[in-house]
Amino acid sequence: MNRRFFISSSIAVVGFAVLSRLPSWAQPNEKVLSGVLAVSPHPGPLPGGEGVGVGRDSTFNSPGSSIQEKSKSKGIKKVTKTDAEWKSQLTPEQYDVLRHEGTEYAFTSPLNDIHDKGTFICAGCELPVFSSAQKFDSGTGWPSFWAPLKKENVIEETDRSAGMTRTKVSCAQCEGHLGHVFDDGPKPTGLRYCMNGVAMKFVKG
Ligand SMILES: [Zn+2]
Repeated sequence: MNRRFFISSSIAVVGFAVLSRLPSWAQPNEKVLSGVLAVSPHPGPLPGGEGVGVGRDSTFNSPGSSIQEKSKSKGIKKVTKTDAEWKSQLTPEQYDVLRHEGTEYAFTSPLNDIHDKGTFICAGCELPVFSSAQKFDSGTGWPSFWAPLKKENVIEETDRSAGMTRTKVSCAQCEGHLGHVFDDGPKPTGLRYCMNGVAMKFVKG
C-alpha cells in the first residue's frame, strides 16, 4: 500500500472519530466533514447499505487486540491471531504442531495414559475437540479416538504432504493442526483419529 495514502487516510479516520465524539455545537459544518471523508479508505456507501465505511476500521482504533471474529461457520466463531501472538502464547512444541503441522514423537504425550473421564480441548483456543468416551488404545503412541466430540468442532482436509495422501484434522475454531484420521480404527466408526497430545489439554470430569 502507498504509505503516504495509508497515513493520510488513517489520520482522516482518527480525525473523523474524534470529530464525531464532539457535541453537535462543536462539530464542523457539512462541507468540512465531507472533505475529511473524501480521503477515507472507504468513501461512499458500501454494498449492502452499511453506509460510510469508517466503522469498518475499528481494528485501527484498537491495535492491541488482533483477535477477530471471522464469519460464523456452523455456529463456531473463528479465533484468529498473528503468528507472533501464537508463538508467545504456546510452548515451542505446541506451536510447532498447532501452527506448523508438526508431529510429536510417539509415546511422548502424557495424554496417552489418561483413562479418566473427561474432555480433550484444543491447546490453542480451548475448544472441546475429543472426549474420553471415544478414546481407545491404538498402541501407536499417540492419543487415539474413534470419533471427535462433535463433527463440527474439527475440520478434516486432504493432506498430500510427506509423499502420502492423508486426511488432516484441525480445530474448527483456531484452525490449529491436531493430527490425522485413518480408516483402520475400531467399531463403531472404523476410524482412528491419531492426535498429537501436545496439541490438546485434558479437562477431567
Ligand atoms: Zn483451537
